[in-house]
Amino acid sequence: MLEIAILHSSLLIAQAQKPSQQFLELKNQLKNYGFEVRIELPPKRGAYGLFKASQKKIWINPVVFDLNIANPTLIHEAVHATQFCAGKGKMKALDLKIQPIKPARRLFLRYSNIHRQDLEREAYAVQTQPNRFQIITNLLNKHCKQS
Ligand SMILES: [Zn+2]
Repeated sequence: MLEIAILHSSLLIAQAQKPSQQFLELKNQLKNYGFEVRIELPPKRGAYGLFKASQKKIWINPVVFDLNIANPTLIHEAVHATQFCAGKGKMKALDLKIQPIKPARRLFLRYSNIHRQDLEREAYAVQTQPNRFQIITNLLNKHCKQS
């Protein structure tokens, strides 16, 4: 899941209100690793994105295209998918060396569960890097297997 509202100002980038080429490439890469990406309202109310490990499914709320946060939203959920690959059936942190930008900190610190905090910190870290597509592509290739 993902609540990213306070990140808007720092994440706004020039982007058409339809999937970017990079978005489509990442979506396709996820598909090659057995993850289904649906552009539709997530089953959890109010979420911009949602990853359901049991179904290997990612939901992307269509509103993120209007909010210009489609790319970081998909990348966030793709990090969770990678954590699922790394955990071989469970969610496992990837031990990344990068940290999220400061405004994102309270978004993962509000999770009381330490394990969950780790998972969210990594997702926010990757989605806020300038080279985030490169990072997530490498992570997926490293941890996930073609289905
Ligand atoms: Zn998350």
